[in-house]
Amino acid sequence: MKPYNELDTSILAKGLIRSINRHATKKSRFMEFCGGHTHAIMKNGIRQLLPEMIELTSGPGCPVCVTDNAELDKAIELSKLPDTILATFGDMVRVPGSYSNLQENRAAGRDIRIVYSALDALEMARSNPGKSIIFIAAGFETTAPGFAASVLQAEKENLKNYFIFSMLKICPPVIKALLDSGETNIQGLICPGHVSAVIGSQPWEFIASDYGIPCVVAGFEPLDILQSIEMLAKQTNCSQAKVEIAYKRGVTPQGNSNAINIIHQVFNTAPGKWRGIGEVADSGLKLKPQYKRFDAEAIFKITPAPTRQQKGCICGEILRGVKSPTDCGLFGSVCTPVNPVGPCMVSSEGSCSAFYLYGGNHER
Ligand code: SF4
Repeated sequence: MKPYNELDTSILAKGLIRSINRHATKKSRFMEFCGGHTHAIMKNGIRQLLPEMIELTSGPGCPVCVTDNAELDKAIELSKLPDTILATFGDMVRVPGSYSNLQENRAAGRDIRIVYSALDALEMARSNPGKSIIFIAAGFETTAPGFAASVLQAEKENLKNYFIFSMLKICPPVIKALLDSGETNIQGLICPGHVSAVIGSQPWEFIASDYGIPCVVAGFEPLDILQSIEMLAKQTNCSQAKVEIAYKRGVTPQGNSNAINIIHQVFNTAPGKWRGIGEVADSGLKLKPQYKRFDAEAIFKITPAPTRQQKGCICGEILRGVKSPTDCGLFGSVCTPVNPVGPCMVSSEGSCSAFYLYGGNHER
């Protein structure tokens, strides 16, 4: 068998598109959960390749976008504590909170530093013993194992100045919340590849069994996505609902047991706050009581001002799959990647940035 990069992908793509057209007999709306998929779909013009019967809509799978203003406001307050370094991944610094963002606070003199991994944050703690290092833990099941490992390492080294502020979220419960709301109308779900590489495909089973919605776990190459759409179209055509994997090189039904175990060793599930969706039971991860000394929320007392939302921004509706970026009156005029009003335009996985970068305003 030829390796993937030696195959004529255009022939494979044409075959998949022909098959999608053949099986797309019912009007269907498929949600791509993951912002990485949204960008790949927009970048490769996949929407334009699909028959009229199939519509794609973005979902809540962008960790930066779903970070609620209340959580960002807390992070900003934490950065104002004396002798503190706030460590964060890069996308988060430009995300607007209720009154300001981390970048503006850094310009105002707060010590806010971008890191590329939990290892960087740990090293920061070792080399700054007189400072408290508070690491913003944002992301889904994909990044949670790294944060968990950092806490275990900090414990092993008896680091007393390393803390995390957990905004971590887990994905399947939020889809349940969207479906239970009755507002999000989908006939198929493209499940996130990276998250599923950790948790496996089994945690999505309830969507097929309880809601009758077909699910396919997809990778991030254009062919992966076309294949997942073809598999969803076939299931829809046959009125089937099951969970399939179109990304077998990365995902198994059971997932990665080491990654799952370390998450459960360090974190408990807790209510998670999702922008535009609200509080969802069991969709957050907070440190277990035995790791409380690393928990910034438990150790540092802060009182952020009441939250407020960005006027005119419809990120919440976009994340719930009920509106598209081009429905926003600010899209591309007031709100651009250089001057973002909401997080969906800031993040490299945000729907608004995908539509802006790849001509979404001309998409159907
Ligand atoms: S275009 Fe900007 S203001 Fe409108 S929803 Fe997207 S991020 Fe929010």
